Amino acid sequence: MQRRNGHLVIMVGAGPAALYATAKLAQQGHTVVILNRDIKPGGLAEYGIYPSKHQMKEGLRKQFRRILADPRVIYFGNAQVGEAGAVRFTDLQDLKPSAIVVAAGAQGTKSLGLPGDEGPSVYHAKDLVYHFNLLPPFSEKDFPMGNRVVIIGIGNVMVDVAHYLVTVRKVPEVMAVARRGPKERAYDDREMRAVAWNIDKEALKEELERIRPRLEPLGQDMDTLYKELTKDSHVELKGGKSPTRLTFRFLSSPKRVIRDETGRIVALEIEENTLVDRGGKLAAKGLGETMQLPVDTVVFAIGDVVDHGLGLPPQGGGFATNPNPDSQDPGAATYQAFDPQAEQLLDGVFVIGWSRSASEGVVGKAKLDGEKGAAVVNRFLATQPALSRRKIYERIGNVYHLLLEKSVPVVHKGLWRILEQVEWQEAAKRGLEEFKFGTNDEMLRNIEERIIKRS
Ligand SMILES: Cc1cc2nc3c(=O)[nH]c(=O)nc-3n(C[C@H](O)[C@H](O)[C@H](O)COP(=O)(O)OP(=O)(O)OC[C@H]3O[C@@H](n4cnc5c(N)ncnc54)[C@H](O)[C@@H]3O)c2cc1C
Repeated sequence: MQRRNGHLVIMVGAGPAALYATAKLAQQGHTVVILNRDIKPGGLAEYGIYPSKHQMKEGLRKQFRRILADPRVIYFGNAQVGEAGAVRFTDLQDLKPSAIVVAAGAQGTKSLGLPGDEGPSVYHAKDLVYHFNLLPPFSEKDFPMGNRVVIIGIGNVMVDVAHYLVTVRKVPEVMAVARRGPKERAYDDREMRAVAWNIDKEALKEELERIRPRLEPLGQDMDTLYKELTKDSHVELKGGKSPTRLTFRFLSSPKRVIRDETGRIVALEIEENTLVDRGGKLAAKGLGETMQLPVDTVVFAIGDVVDHGLGLPPQGGGFATNPNPDSQDPGAATYQAFDPQAEQLLDGVFVIGWSRSASEGVVGKAKLDGEKGAAVVNRFLATQPALSRRKIYERIGNVYHLLLEKSVPVVHKGLWRILEQVEWQEAAKRGLEEFKFGTNDEMLRNIEERIIKRS
């Protein structure tokens, strides 16, 4: 059989953007080595999408299994890249792959830097979402909740956090705080069905009355908004009624987390806003009036930023990309990694998905972005000298040895499939739709035990 020369791409991450990009690159005949922080592939499709969306999650897993089954795709799970990981980004560059694609999502924390927002009972939605989706080490941490939890933000992630607080934690009061009004809500009404039953309709009416004078002059009708916000409030939760009262506070920007002398949260100070037209888009403008909302726990659901320790220069929420579009291929620049300080391209390094545009869009968008990015990488590879098969194998071996040198218990494809089988059997034994081990140790131990049993 004739062995063709080709290219070797290192993919950092195994979320939707990475996996759909991998599929495209492998189809072009390139070899892709994936280094993934988590033992399991899937990223937020595995550890972000709400746990009860079994069908959606399993549908995506099926596609990911197919992509990873390609022999041109090599998978190393439990292999984090960056300052906190097993391998530095520069180590990867030293291995001289044909290209490196960073698809590590947005793993950093966006902070508003409010006084009092560091300390007990303040959480960031991503950590909480990872916790209830059983991603180690978040799965092993405690997230104590009080009786009055405020969620800052009004997108789909707020809805997922509210869903968890209502159904699992059964918190008595959950309040969503939004800088703008109900019309500018960023959540999808279909997602809200999960907790719509818990909306306190009387409180919502009062809230809409409170903001009526600020919104009516903008042509917004409160009765229509009330109907929109409550249209699914008759839909009862699957697991039965929960006592949680879900309320909204609109036109309010958080200013300060107020704690008592023991450090316990007693209130969230907010500033009242109005809405102003900025280039055809309604933006919040502070009115200088503040008030205190009595709460004891604060969750920020305001999106995330990339991990500044990964080894690429950040800019805005994502990693920096080429600001100088090429006239031949203008869209390509936004996928090319860039060093703003040196004002130069990071040659052969690309970014896709939430690493490029942090916290933007659903899986479908990440897929499209991964595929567009793969096309840019593919055009770049066409300009690069091909590597012999021997060189490609050698370099894959070098990646593996690098991980072994750092004593990382790497989970390759075969081991991950074993883990899947153990978890399926465990689910069947317990009569559950799905079962997940919540620690890396348990996952690794179960893989090992299964191998020993087989041998
Ligand atoms: C709470 C929540 C709920 C959501 N629900 C839905 C939904 O219901 N439907 C929907 O379509 N979309 C949903 N989304 C959006 C969807 O999950 C994202 O659009 C998509 O996962 C983004 O893909 P990504 O590959 O860019 O990043 P991610 O999915 O975040 O994947 C990043 C990958 O990189 C790996 N990684 C991270 N850091 C490193 C590192 N340093 N080294 C190596 N690997 C690393 C991670 O392990 C992970 O595998 C939800 C998102 C959130 C936050």
